[in-house]
Amino acid sequence: MIQKYIKRKVPFYTLYPTQSNWEKINNNENFNSYLEKIIKSNSQLSMYLHFPFCPKQCYFCHCYTVISRKEDHYDKISSSIIKELELLFNAARRFGKKLKITDIHFGGGTPTVIPEQKFEKIIQTIKENIDSDALKEIALEVDPRNDMNSEKLLKYSFYGVNRISLGIQDFDKDVQKAVNRINDYELIDNLLNKKVRETFDSINFDFIFGLPKQTKKSLETTTKKIVSLKPSRITILNMDHRPEIYRHQNAYKEIDLPTDELKIQMYELCTNILILNNYQKIGVNHFALDNDILSKYKNEKKLYRNPNGFSPGWAYDMISVGPSATGKLGNYYYQNIYSVDKYIESIEKKNFPINREKKLNNEDIKRRKIIMDLLNFEELHLKELNDNDILDNNVLYKLEEFVEIDFLNYDEKNQVYSVTDLGSYFINHICNIFDSYKDNKYLSQREFKDGIRSLDRNLNLNKF
Ligand code: SF4
Repeated sequence: MIQKYIKRKVPFYTLYPTQSNWEKINNNENFNSYLEKIIKSNSQLSMYLHFPFCPKQCYFCHCYTVISRKEDHYDKISSSIIKELELLFNAARRFGKKLKITDIHFGGGTPTVIPEQKFEKIIQTIKENIDSDALKEIALEVDPRNDMNSEKLLKYSFYGVNRISLGIQDFDKDVQKAVNRINDYELIDNLLNKKVRETFDSINFDFIFGLPKQTKKSLETTTKKIVSLKPSRITILNMDHRPEIYRHQNAYKEIDLPTDELKIQMYELCTNILILNNYQKIGVNHFALDNDILSKYKNEKKLYRNPNGFSPGWAYDMISVGPSATGKLGNYYYQNIYSVDKYIESIEKKNFPINREKKLNNEDIKRRKIIMDLLNFEELHLKELNDNDILDNNVLYKLEEFVEIDFLNYDEKNQVYSVTDLGSYFINHICNIFDSYKDNKYLSQREFKDGIRSLDRNLNLNKF
């Protein structure tokens, strides 16, 4: 019976409802009104900045990236991000307020290629305009290649960066060649010298299972090497092979990909190694040592999920800037435009560059809570779910089936379902039974007409 779930594609739940169910818009009325509410409420916010450029295409990638090695492009988009930040801070100023940002995350793309002066200016613009007492963390996604070295890494700490996240992906040479991403173990080991480790509060590694040319043996070696480097937090990601959407994935041979059955074993293998080496499992794909703040907050049940992944519950809302960035303001989600040209054009006209949004209704809110509890705590409490509209016969039947095929355990006394190790691999399938939009157009989820992922290379930045 597992076979039918292996073959069934379901959305990847970071937010509910997922993006395929958001509406395209051509005015910012709702965004302005939710932003006003958030500003007036003085509530704490996370901030995400999306820098869309990468110097080189990794073939597994599913992020929104534009491949360019031109400093000029990096410079122009950074200037626009600064202008978008100013629009935001001006909006707060109109109500006599400063935003209470608790954590800032620089993601991408490759934010470590932002020219230093522009990086400094972005930080300065933020710090000068927020209530800086609330700020606890500045995190940066680091590509260990592209002229990165320990000195450059340490410089980021002068600007307040206290958490770094390194894309490792795999240490095996054949796998690295197949995915066009070479970053050796020695490179990472040298980068993370004593001073770097003492300077940053948290060091995160990302790695992927299911890559072309990967075997159980090669993944075991990579996972053990990763553990030997002792990052405080590790995220393992399941390779999403959809060459019809991510066209660069046509660059490797499909025959080199591990089968779905093998991927389940790979997931089990690396989670076991991490747990044996004292990493606590946080949700389905994050692992953290005891001294990492995610472990602490998981134990206190204060974990929260925002559009960018886990947050230790400092803020429930996220304001996001940069092309394609996704934000959440209470029961409202929004996304900026993908196309870099159109993004800059909108910023030049002093308009927030939003072109997709979702206002949640009461049912969405209830379903979101169930899905987030599954993702964060891997549990489902029936007593909290006295809702016949949600717990209909179809859902109850599915829950029973999931117990039968070992995706869930059921504690009858407390009426709690908990996700098993095997169920962790299928967590999106479990969440999917609570998705009331699940019959809608999943295939269209990544068909973005306003900028094609990773192929949006005909930039026309010179006109700005
Ligand atoms: S994996 Fe990272 S560095 Fe590679 S193309 Fe994607 S965003 Fe860029």
